[in-house]
Amino acid sequence: MSRWDQGISVTGRVDILGAGLSGLSAAILLAKSGRDVHVHERRSDSGARFDGDFQGIENWTSERDFFDELREWGIDPDSFKSDAFSKVDLIHPDDEITHPVTNGIAFRVVERGTGSHCIDQGFKKMAIDAGVKIHYGVKYDPMKCDIIAAGPKESSAVAFGEIFHTSHPNHVAFQLNDKLAPGAYSYMIIIDGIGLICTCLWRKQKNTSRFLDETVAWYESNYELDRIPIKRVGGKGDFSIPEKYHTDGRYYVGEAGGLQDFMWGFGMRYAITSGVMAAKSMLGEVSYEEEVRSNLLPLVKVSATNRFLMNRMGDRGFKAVARYWMRDQKRTGDGLNFMRRIYQPGLIRRMMWPLVSASMLTKGTTPDGRSYRRMPFRKALRRDEWTPSTAAQEVSTKWKKTQRDGGRTSFKPSDQ
Ligand SMILES: Cc1cc2nc3c(=O)[nH]c(=O)nc-3n(C[C@H](O)[C@H](O)[C@H](O)COP(=O)(O)OP(=O)(O)OC[C@H]3O[C@@H](n4cnc5c(N)ncnc54)[C@H](O)[C@@H]3O)c2cc1C
Repeated sequence: MSRWDQGISVTGRVDILGAGLSGLSAAILLAKSGRDVHVHERRSDSGARFDGDFQGIENWTSERDFFDELREWGIDPDSFKSDAFSKVDLIHPDDEITHPVTNGIAFRVVERGTGSHCIDQGFKKMAIDAGVKIHYGVKYDPMKCDIIAAGPKESSAVAFGEIFHTSHPNHVAFQLNDKLAPGAYSYMIIIDGIGLICTCLWRKQKNTSRFLDETVAWYESNYELDRIPIKRVGGKGDFSIPEKYHTDGRYYVGEAGGLQDFMWGFGMRYAITSGVMAAKSMLGEVSYEEEVRSNLLPLVKVSATNRFLMNRMGDRGFKAVARYWMRDQKRTGDGLNFMRRIYQPGLIRRMMWPLVSASMLTKGTTPDGRSYRRMPFRKALRRDEWTPSTAAQEVSTKWKKTQRDGGRTSFKPSDQ
């Protein structure tokens, strides 16, 4: 363990850049251990980046329930609203719908944003209760910070969604479809009368709203939604692997440290876990570099290898994956086993890593001189050009009317 990792370099005061989940997790643990913690956030509040978006916290990258891990770290999962799911609609590219199901909890849906029930606000409250001073709406010099938790910088992929009122009961659907979500997937989450339909683009597109309109039209024609649009949201994901996670006395956590799931973009668990690891490292309990390398990096590499394979698939490959998933569920009796297995760093994926790294990631250097390899946003393919359906044009018209009536879009094309 290095001298830095033992926390010897850190005096009583700790400065953290970014009041997202990774920064606040670190702040909570450090303040509870008596440190004078200051978090510097450029936005006006925690969660403002997401503005009412539903996100899923996965339960498949470890056998342990994530909420049990949170409790063990002293983070109370009851401080925010969550809804557990054990079943999902899996929509194949040919529109067949099947149902992966597990005996336990596959994932939990939480809301991101500034509402009091949102996960970001739960973490903020826990931090303040522990004595953390959060400075919102400020610029702060990263070089003066001990922990960099400032989220994604570059875009490797983007996701766009529409939030709407609906009379449909709570539900989660996940769709593998290379036309509606190039190289990726779309999803619909409905919680207590509010729905989100989102499409993820893993290939860079012009006129991105076309993909969301067509995706919304698809769900509308397959589910009884009575959809009344409220707003549109979105954001980018940064998939990179830095040479070091702890360098020049600074800990890089969450997406600022490239700790993200390259395959689906389920980055919340990585963000919180890495924030906790950084805090424990500063408190002299573990080495951050070693913890990340032995517990998170193998998962990141597996997810990158899975992403490499997905990048080579179109709808035929997606159909084969969906079929395999359901056969696996029939064989093992639990739909979550498939997800758990594809995140295990087995021999074949480990052997593929040099190829994945060399052909999918590009080398670069940050302005402050840190080396990394990152997954660039892939180019659009010819098959991404198509004419919107009449139903999608109607979705677009309805959204434009909502905009005229005050409906907001919290994501600008320039954010990509
Ligand atoms: C549309 C979308 C859907 C997603 N869905 C899921 C999902 O279903 N499940 C899942 O697990 N993950 C999902 N993710 C990924 C997940 O949201 C992120 O991986 C996670 O929030 C990363 O946490 P973080 O703390 O690293 O960064 P963030 O949550 O981005 O927090 C970083 C904070 O730092 C602030 N900041 C940035 N720069 C500065 C600066 N210079 N100075 C001060 N403050 C700064 C930002 O304003 C922000 O508040 C999704 C992402 C997007 C965009």
